[in-house]
Amino acid sequence: PDDEDNTEVEKPKIKFSDVGGMHQVKEEISLKIIHPLLHPDLYKAYGKKIGGGILMYGPPGCGKTLIARATAGEINASFISVGINDILDMWIGNSEKNLHAIFQKARAKAPCVLFFDEVDALGASRSDMRKSGGRHLINQFLSELDGVDYSNEGVLILAATNTPWNMDSAFRRPGRFDRIVFVTPPDQAAKETILEVLLKDKPIQKLNLEAVTKKAKDFSGADLRAVVDIAVENKLRESMKKGLPLPIEQSDLINAVEKVNPSTKEWFGTAR
Ligand code: ATP
Repeated sequence: PDDEDNTEVEKPKIKFSDVGGMHQVKEEISLKIIHPLLHPDLYKAYGKKIGGGILMYGPPGCGKTLIARATAGEINASFISVGINDILDMWIGNSEKNLHAIFQKARAKAPCVLFFDEVDALGASRSDMRKSGGRHLINQFLSELDGVDYSNEGVLILAATNTPWNMDSAFRRPGRFDRIVFVTPPDQAAKETILEVLLKDKPIQKLNLEAVTKKAKDFSGADLRAVVDIAVENKLRESMKKGLPLPIEQSDLINAVEKVNPSTKEWFGTAR
């Protein structure tokens, strides 16, 4: 049956403004996903086809999942995040069924952003997949993307991978993942915005975030989140003793930065 998968349908509240940096990704998503959904008639008037997804790639922790969720929030759409474990099943034929069920759910909940994390694991080059009997799954994925048997109207497809070179080239054809965007690690300005977003609604002193980001070389968004988490935990412990919420200070952030290892450098070292 179509309703036995474990993925959750969310209604995200976050918007693009909750995502620091990522300007190019936001622009691509606006042009390819959001505008066609909001102005289908304009696209039709110029004979421009609607459809196809965006494949995002780049080091982990740089906001791919976050921007997918925020895309749904921007247009008040539903959101389904799909990991490989939601699909792969040891029984022959079950992975294909799981994938179909997920697409059906997204179609029923349209407008819906359907996000595939680690999509390379599903669309690995055919020779890899053939060994594990995965060709059927690739073909199923391709026909779901094409909307062969069911319309994908209002189903907005985003996917993320750390290793795009493992994707079967059939996924790159028009109407499928015909746009690829490289999600870079945040630059100085983006890091500041990310910290602002992460510190929003928390008790803080006047902070010099630029000084913090200067020390956060090669940090991903997720690394910055770890920094804020550490600062918050320490402050919470101090506050517990005093019995009132002490504001986060500059030194809390600086100390926390020193405790976190930057994660993006490693990715650039191996991704060749
Ligand atoms: P992975 O490849 O590991 O799935 P990802 O690129 O999908 O990584 P996210 O899961 O989106 O990364 O990011 C992890 C967390 O880091 C987010 O939930 C968020 O708290 C923080 N973060 C990352 N990038 C940003 C950003 N640009 N703005 C604000 N927060 C960010």
